[in-house]
Amino acid sequence: MKWTATNHITLTDPYLVNAEQKLLDYLLSFDEDKLLYEFYQVAQLEAPTSTGYQGWERSDLINFRGHFPGHYLSAAALAFKASDDQAIQNKLEQKLENMVKQLGHIQEAYAAINPASAGYLSAFTEASLDAVEGIPAPANQAENNLVPWYILHKVLAGLLDVHEVFIQKNDALSQLALEIATRFGDYIYKRMMRLKDKQLMLQIEYGGMNDALYRLFTFSKNPNHHTAATYFDEVELFKALARGEDVLAGKHANTMIPKFLGALSHYETTENPEEMYLTAAINFWDIVINHHTYATGGNSQSEHFHLADELYHDAAIRVGDCTCETCNTHNMLKLTRRLYQLTHDSKYLDYYERTYINAILASQNPETGMMMYFQPMDAGYNKVYNRPYDEFWCCTGTGIESFAKLSDTFYFSDEDTLFINSYFSNQLHLAKANLLLNLQSNADFSQINITATAIDSNQPILIQELAFRIPNWSQKTRIEVDGQGQEVSNEADFIFVALGKEIQLSFDPQLQFEATPDNPNYGALVYGPFVLASRLGNEAMDADNPNGILVRVGTKLDYLETDIIVEKEDWLSDIKPIESEKYSMAFELKASNQHVEFVPYYQIHDERYGIYHLYLTAANNKQKNGKSDQIVDSLNNFDHNNSEFAKGLEFNHSFIATKEGKNYRIAEDNGWFAYDFGKLKSPVNKVRFVFHQEDLNKELQLTINDKRYSIAVEGLNAEVFIEKEIEIEEAGELSIRFGAGVGIFGIYLLG
Ligand SMILES: [Zn+2]
Repeated sequence: MKWTATNHITLTDPYLVNAEQKLLDYLLSFDEDKLLYEFYQVAQLEAPTSTGYQGWERSDLINFRGHFPGHYLSAAALAFKASDDQAIQNKLEQKLENMVKQLGHIQEAYAAINPASAGYLSAFTEASLDAVEGIPAPANQAENNLVPWYILHKVLAGLLDVHEVFIQKNDALSQLALEIATRFGDYIYKRMMRLKDKQLMLQIEYGGMNDALYRLFTFSKNPNHHTAATYFDEVELFKALARGEDVLAGKHANTMIPKFLGALSHYETTENPEEMYLTAAINFWDIVINHHTYATGGNSQSEHFHLADELYHDAAIRVGDCTCETCNTHNMLKLTRRLYQLTHDSKYLDYYERTYINAILASQNPETGMMMYFQPMDAGYNKVYNRPYDEFWCCTGTGIESFAKLSDTFYFSDEDTLFINSYFSNQLHLAKANLLLNLQSNADFSQINITATAIDSNQPILIQELAFRIPNWSQKTRIEVDGQGQEVSNEADFIFVALGKEIQLSFDPQLQFEATPDNPNYGALVYGPFVLASRLGNEAMDADNPNGILVRVGTKLDYLETDIIVEKEDWLSDIKPIESEKYSMAFELKASNQHVEFVPYYQIHDERYGIYHLYLTAANNKQKNGKSDQIVDSLNNFDHNNSEFAKGLEFNHSFIATKEGKNYRIAEDNGWFAYDFGKLKSPVNKVRFVFHQEDLNKELQLTINDKRYSIAVEGLNAEVFIEKEIEIEEAGELSIRFGAGVGIFGIYLLG
């Protein structure tokens, strides 16, 4: 099977047309010289601009510099491919030509002054890679970026995307991009070969380095690139997943997903590959979807997987601000597409549709085109989008790629059959097959009208058969081809029909309640493939909270009434469709305590919303516990990365590790670690710490704003995790310094 390339498809659904246009406006607004500013610094060349971009691209403070230019190469190439506007294509091509030429020049200049490191191409110095390998640089040369291989992966992937898109369209550009990528691959191979412990660099997020190097190998055919890729395969992890073990708890989610893209690439590019690589990716997908995934298709809390089936706990109790990082769904969709290609199991296409709508489309502001980082699943939140030029989050990087290929999974073909996978309105133009297909849907995908015509009416259409995907959400499906109707079995994945001139498809979407496994009353409403969200007013829409390095997340207005008191157990039948001018569909539930209106989550942007609510009958509402303390600030993600450094991590003889699937930090003898929570947004009168029972009966020494405390880790029951609170009174700034010997699994500042 072959996916139909985006250049054959014109979006006509107005929501998607706008989404694509907003992305193009954003891409064309960049100064590509500025994107490369830091690359010039590393090669000791004078840059054509006096400054670079800031945010994660800054160099003076902790940063991820170089990641966004890599994403930009990919997104601009993909947008070039998807566009049918010559003027836009020309502008994107010019930008890419300019960038790739400059990158070639920078790579050569670096090689001239560092011949042993020829091929290196980066926005930060090699000291950063040395540090990952356990060779700290002298203080005046130490780097301040956090995840060097992750960033280099983006640059390599960007060059390969330019190479692939411009084959036969601009061979000079395509070849130059491949030459630069090849030299870069040679450098990585050399570096890997001299490294004794090749597992060392796997400890820090490295994106999809294995995937990108396997892909480079398919173009370069240089076996060294394949060998280098294998060093980024985490074979022990793959084996655990291949055995079906859910080892995900405590792991950084978006580090994990690309590893399995790499496992698939290993499988596809290796002669006589072990089946284990494919099984690992299949099982990983199943475990993530069945035990760690929300109704939107998203996963993770605070960027991490936690214990299986604890979705209510993670969204409503842990800290709900930072569920569902958008990068994760971007990468899950890549994995899903490839797994479908290898297995032809229709569950992958159903997940693709659900996630594409409710995690990807949902992440973009339709007015500004900017994109979300975390997507809170709980009720009471606003959506927070990146600012265009001074943040550059990871999710802005993957976001520009997602919106540059909106139609890439709409169609595929197999011999004479054309498969139709997506039901967003569009036009398909297949010149080679002499076919123009016009697909027009209504708002809820219950009615799809298709017309098929010959582009040249004197010639035959070369497609014999159409196959329409039967979505898992349709209870009853009917098809009519040129007036001839037939019922369709819902057991089948596709309806196969001979090509006709006019085809009508009817699907039968139903309203569903999808509860979390750990709380049957906590759930989301879904209509067909559309996740619904409640409309909760537009108060404090500009509010945000800091989270991680320069990241902002939505705020929850606690005083909003978000529990829904239903009148009977079978309350779903009380939800009725209503008219809406603003949204493509709307429903109303007249609950006992409030009237709630539900609309598609992906379309909400200027109102507060709730995806998951507690639906309680009057009886079980009474049993619900009273309100707990308000969390003013917290740290429960000990990652030696974004989360900890955002809290001003300082340490000496201290490290992070994992127990029971939870990360923690501990200091060794004579060691310590400290966090600075900065200015408090409201007064704090208690601090809650989370310990592990293995530290029972130990004493922890700590200092809060210069005041010393000693906490005895005591537990009356056999809980695995022990919570202890101390009373304080602080309203200004707050910093905590921990002594040695006791692992810290969570810090909650309570008001
Ligand atoms: Zn991200």
